[in-house]
Amino acid sequence: MINKNDWRIMGQEEYLFGVQLLHIKYKPANDRNTHDHCEFCGKTFFLLEGYLHCGYCTEDRYLWICDVCFSDFQDRFKWIVIQTKGDDRLLRNPEEYANKENSKET
Ligand SMILES: [Zn+2]
Repeated sequence: MINKNDWRIMGQEEYLFGVQLLHIKYKPANDRNTHDHCEFCGKTFFLLEGYLHCGYCTEDRYLWICDVCFSDFQDRFKWIVIQTKGDDRLLRNPEEYANKENSKET
């Protein structure tokens, strides 16, 4: 159970409430940056063995959230996970989508 006084909560509502997040493989926001920390639990994202290699980040990739904290806090923070480029899940069944469009009109 997650309670209001969870140790990981330190005012993140002010800048992370309701934001859009990408679920991607870890990639630093710029070349000078080698690693990032989860905004909640502080776990390290780093492309070396023993660190997190995948997680949720803001569109600019400056803020990262690990999978555990994401699932613990998603109800509270109302995050919107947006499609990443190269994710073709929505394009895989174009016929299915076409059929849905057609059925709306009848
Ligand atoms: Zn975390």
